[in-house]
Amino acid sequence: MATGKIGVTTENIFPIIKKFLYSDHEIFLRELVSNAIDATQKLKTLSSFGEFKGELGEMNVKVSVDKEAGTLTISDHGIGMDADDIEKYINQIAFSGAEEFLQKYKDTANSIIGHFGLGFYSAFMVSKKVVIKSLSYKEGAKAVEWECDGSPEYEMKEIEKSQRGTDVILYIDDDNKEFLEQARIDNLLKKYCRFLPVPVISGKEQEWKDGKYVDTDKDKVVNASEPLWTKKPTELTDKDYLEFYHELMPGMEDPMFWIHLNVDYPFTLTGILYFPKIRNNFDVQKNRIQLYCNQVYVTDQVEGVVPEFMTLMQGVIDSPDIPLNVSRSYLQADQQVKKISAYISKKVAEKLDKMFKDDRKSFESKWDDIKVFIEYGMLTDEKFYESAKKFFLLKDINNTYYTLEEYHTLVEAEQTDKDNNVIYLYATDPTAQFTYIKAAEEKGYNVLLMDGQLDNHIIGLLEQKLDKVRFVRVDADIPDRLIVKSDSMDAGLSPLQTDIMTTVFKSQIPEVENTQFIVSFASLSPDAAPATVTQNEFMRRMKEMAQMQSGGGFYSQMPDSYEIIVNTAQPSVKKLVELATSSLQDRVAPIRSEIETLNNEITSKQKEKKEDNNSAADTTELQNKVSGLRNEEENLVSEYAKEQPKVRQIIDLALLQSNLLKGKNLNEFIKRSVSLLD
Ligand code: ADP
Repeated sequence: MATGKIGVTTENIFPIIKKFLYSDHEIFLRELVSNAIDATQKLKTLSSFGEFKGELGEMNVKVSVDKEAGTLTISDHGIGMDADDIEKYINQIAFSGAEEFLQKYKDTANSIIGHFGLGFYSAFMVSKKVVIKSLSYKEGAKAVEWECDGSPEYEMKEIEKSQRGTDVILYIDDDNKEFLEQARIDNLLKKYCRFLPVPVISGKEQEWKDGKYVDTDKDKVVNASEPLWTKKPTELTDKDYLEFYHELMPGMEDPMFWIHLNVDYPFTLTGILYFPKIRNNFDVQKNRIQLYCNQVYVTDQVEGVVPEFMTLMQGVIDSPDIPLNVSRSYLQADQQVKKISAYISKKVAEKLDKMFKDDRKSFESKWDDIKVFIEYGMLTDEKFYESAKKFFLLKDINNTYYTLEEYHTLVEAEQTDKDNNVIYLYATDPTAQFTYIKAAEEKGYNVLLMDGQLDNHIIGLLEQKLDKVRFVRVDADIPDRLIVKSDSMDAGLSPLQTDIMTTVFKSQIPEVENTQFIVSFASLSPDAAPATVTQNEFMRRMKEMAQMQSGGGFYSQMPDSYEIIVNTAQPSVKKLVELATSSLQDRVAPIRSEIETLNNEITSKQKEKKEDNNSAADTTELQNKVSGLRNEEENLVSEYAKEQPKVRQIIDLALLQSNLLKGKNLNEFIKRSVSLLD
């Protein structure tokens, strides 16, 4: 029997492993099973090269729990190890400064294990003693047993072992009894070993007998050793892909389509990415892509490895070239990973482009569902935008789809404004904006439907990317001013009339919570509505953006601001103006001229004082008089307006049209409408 010291440079690596790697301790099983698989694969390779001439026999890996003995054993029939191998691979941990290193990276324990050849030693996270029994494949090899209780000392001796391969026996310590439960082991194997290339056996198949499940004689294989992504796409049917999808993502609806990735150069990568149906709510289910390294599950935290927008997809990626066992920040900075990410992005764009070209009708039918992926990609990945702009579709409110180029051609002639901007009109809610849409269509304009979760952002992006294109929501202005083709639009009112009518309307606008209105006048078509409510495009977008950010910010605090544009050419309005002018001008004109006189006085006083180089002139008294007169005028006009139910009726109709008339105000409107029937 030999004893010796394990060749680590620090004395106490095991306590460190136990202590710092504690949170991730379940991965010991992944490490040990992976080693067993490697050993099995290596022997298969040697055999195929004729370097191993013996019988391969049954090549599987077995994980067995012995609750009574308190052991968990991982057995393989792979290449095995002789005393020299154990000395070289197990005793000499090629690792310098282990303690310092572990201190530094204690939070990323999972990452260090495996990467630095500590895989086997992770067994000590859960064991008070580890025994290896191994017989090498080499001719004439002697079987050996190695034993270590977690101190840096080990014992090694020759033993009898007839079967080639290695048994790693873990004497599970008291804190980790959970790993002696078959159910816990089954779950771990399902998580980490589901797609390993060699059959992994654990426990027995069960059957239902006499009212309970009982073990049969049949070994239970926990993995599918040839997962779908390792097969050739040409050999697979849609049914295969769908079945695999449901196995990966139980309980999900069928995906829309999928992409099978398969590349050998400049790196090796295989995988299948599925596009799930994303329901109306932006329920971003990230981390649905699983990352494998040679079929060993590594993580589902794929940020940095796949382009961000693809984290909405589901599926698997397998690559031995992704440095899987390092920290996330390292991953994100890694050049190789960047290339892989760019490659995946390119592949997805190519697939979409092909779908678009091969069968546009079918692409259009999927568009509403895949749009969110494509928009997300365009917004976050410049290169993807460049490919996607060829198959990105705009949909109008009549459900016709256009590419960006087609749409530009369609609207260019009718919808170019005086500054040569092509205006793309859009609606976000066809029901609420119905009247505006109809009015725009009557003018011969096309209206897009932009009601997707990311459409706000896409509008911003397209305005940046497309030369001289601006998006305007249909209710941003009255139809005549949505696309301004010439400069002025006279309301045909004198200054006195403008003043009077502004107060007439303003005084009758009902209170709407957190909302402001301004009143303006325009002479539009006599057939157009007497008044229209519009919302400034810029302010609205700012508010919408602010609402999407957490905390809201400056713009979200502001009240909503609308403009009520009164159509002075509309016959009822025309009558109202005439009536108000004749009833009020004799009373308002004297007040106005008095205000004018006072204002002149104030200006000349201020001027005088300035010339005398004295301190500011005292005009408070005069100014008070002016505001008194203004109030008087306002009261006078408001009192008059109150007696004109038609004013309020016109306002309410406009509010109603844009969904702003609610509750008490709506109730009053209905009552008034009934009384006006008389
Ligand atoms: P890594 O697997 O990252 O090289 P490990 O500490 O897990 O690091 O294993 C060290 C080495 O010990 C392996 O590279 C392999 O040569 C040997 N080894 C471990 N487990 C087995 C096994 N079950 N059969 C044969 N050799 C093994």
